[in-house]
Amino acid sequence: PVLPGPRPSWLKVKVPAPEVTAEVEALVRSKKLVTVCEEARCPNLHECWGVHRTATFMLLGDVCTRHCGFCNVGKGRPGEVDPLEPQRVAEAVASLGLAFAVVTSVNRDDLPDGGAAHFAQTIQWIRTLLPGCGVEVLIPDFRGREGDLHAVLQAGPDVLNHNVETVARLYRRVRPDADYAQSLEVLRRSAAWRDAHAPGLRVKSGIMVGLGETPEEVLELMGHWREASVDVATLGQYLPPSALHLPLHRYVDPEEFEMYRRKGLEMGFRRVESGPLVRSSYHAGDSYGAPARG
Ligand code: SF4
Ligand code: SF4
Repeated sequence: PVLPGPRPSWLKVKVPAPEVTAEVEALVRSKKLVTVCEEARCPNLHECWGVHRTATFMLLGDVCTRHCGFCNVGKGRPGEVDPLEPQRVAEAVASLGLAFAVVTSVNRDDLPDGGAAHFAQTIQWIRTLLPGCGVEVLIPDFRGREGDLHAVLQAGPDVLNHNVETVARLYRRVRPDADYAQSLEVLRRSAAWRDAHAPGLRVKSGIMVGLGETPEEVLELMGHWREASVDVATLGQYLPPSALHLPLHRYVDPEEFEMYRRKGLEMGFRRVESGPLVRSSYHAGDSYGAPARG
């Protein structure tokens, strides 16, 4: 079985404002955009779209060159890069009047720069069309190429997020095309950039729990994040998108999430979002200090 029993009550969500959700959906369709909220079947979609009017935009198509077993994004050979996409994303961000926008992409190992220039252009377009809007980029590892990471950082995001996703021991099963040490290096280099050039930058990373990791392994990973000087950590429950995805090992209860949050603050993180429904971009604006929108 995919699930070890019925969903516990803490994973049930309400639909707060269906008309606003519909408005965001119409805008996303009209601009031909892809959102992680829909692709990942995120349980917070109604809260984020309907209440906070925020969304996570996905650049560079909806087909990924990697094969993470937890992920609902299509795998295979991606299409052409659309050079007008950075502008369209920024137009959508401006139409929604977002206080904070999150931008990510599929992995594009087929592109020489992995899509770094596309990220940089999107940041610049948002800065042009909606100055004052906070921007978080959730980036791939660019196969460890420092120049591509710097191209993104140079464009001046407010938050640089790169997810480690799981503990080192589970990499082969969960992120077979990625490397734990390389992902930590992306974070370490981003923190070094922050210290040298951008004191306001926040470096952020996240994992899913419930994939078979132990609490000790999670705390060890959080220690590695701190060694890399990560500012903000997110920890959320893994929920398999379908029976074909990696099976769930266990539901982590809210007390364990609270323990991670407490320990994380003791370790020195500026912010730890830890809870069953936490996703990488959940309450993203809060980690940067943007006002909450209702
Ligand atoms: Fe979208 Fe992130 Fe909100 Fe989920 S948590 S609905 S992915 S913005
Ligand atoms: Fe999904 Fe990202 Fe993995 Fe691609 S790299 S399969 S988009 S999680």
